[in-house]
Amino acid sequence: MDLNQSLGEADELFEAQAHIYRHIFNYATSMSLGCALELGIPNIIHDHERPITIQELVSKLNLPITKTLHLQRLMRLLIHSKFFSITKFHDQENEDEKEGYVLTVASKLLLKNNNTSENSQNQPNLLPFANLILDPVLMTPWQFLGKWFNGNESTVFETAHGTPMWEFANKNPGFNELFNDAMASDSRMMSLVVKDCKDIFGSVDSLVDVGGGTGLNAKILLEAFPHMTCTVFDLPHVVVNKIETKNLKYVGGDMFCSIPSTDAVFFKNVLHNWSDENVVKILKQCKEAIQRKEDDDDGDGKKGKLVIIDMVVDENQDRHEITETKLVFDILMMVLVTGRERTKNEWEKLFLEAGFSRYKITPIFGLRSLMEVFP
Ligand code: SAH
Repeated sequence: MDLNQSLGEADELFEAQAHIYRHIFNYATSMSLGCALELGIPNIIHDHERPITIQELVSKLNLPITKTLHLQRLMRLLIHSKFFSITKFHDQENEDEKEGYVLTVASKLLLKNNNTSENSQNQPNLLPFANLILDPVLMTPWQFLGKWFNGNESTVFETAHGTPMWEFANKNPGFNELFNDAMASDSRMMSLVVKDCKDIFGSVDSLVDVGGGTGLNAKILLEAFPHMTCTVFDLPHVVVNKIETKNLKYVGGDMFCSIPSTDAVFFKNVLHNWSDENVVKILKQCKEAIQRKEDDDDGDGKKGKLVIIDMVVDENQDRHEITETKLVFDILMMVLVTGRERTKNEWEKLFLEAGFSRYKITPIFGLRSLMEVFP
């Protein structure tokens, strides 16, 4: 074997080593980000109003000066993964050039919202979602994935915590709040484009948001389409004591048993929680809910539909990292619940099996698509 050949083989193996290390250390990036959030670094940078030097950051965090270099290393990794960036600026006090940290679009979405005004509450913000995913209750099950493959529990969450996630949420008010806040923060992203969906919601008079959580989706929809009446339908412990308005109602129940009659049934991040068999059961309940409304109205069958916001896995069309995120969500659905992320063909099969005849997919919510499904 000549030297060039063995160097070529070595190169390939070193490349593979780097690949392995990058992936087995993926958690180091998420834990470092979690640390930055725990320390409140995004807010300190935000409140500083100009780039913040490492010395200023150490001082604002009240850290001992001996931690300066350590913090700089944490920031270097998070700059590399595009959570912060570093920029040169002119320091007017000392009349010199300095380097300071600034936020990126991603860390702006992770600011802690200290302002309780209605307006700032409506700003897109994903900190509650990050806090949920990085919480020990959701991190622990990942340690049990292998054990679960060899066991009988239906979810990895159950192997780790001894109870399914929805029951766990029911029994642990703190986790229930963390979970519902996270879902609401994810929903707030929807408000960025919902007003552009006139074709989809303009002709809908009544809508039931099934698995609607705290009702934020419904409020966002009503803000854009005030002519509608929205019912948030979720498990009784989720909708208890919620404040209703003239066109926003809350109903507690079980979507496997019955869904209130309506023109449109809306689901966001719900169907991906369930197995194919269960999705078909839920979709059949939707068909009945739409049919009941039709019969009450003596309608012409034109209004009834489902509006589903969920992921559609498309490895041919999506960028590599978007597919990676969707596939990670797919495993998350296996770890936490009995659901999965689906391709277009997999969705279609379920729609047809539940008795719906056609559908239309519009990819408008970033990772998620909007699917309209018609009887
Ligand atoms: N649609 C919301 C919440 C999604 S999480 C959002 O986009 O943010 C899934 C929701 O389904 C939770 O609120 C959960 O309480 C609800 N859920 C779970 N099982 C249910 C059932 N059997 N009937 C009705 N809702 C259910």
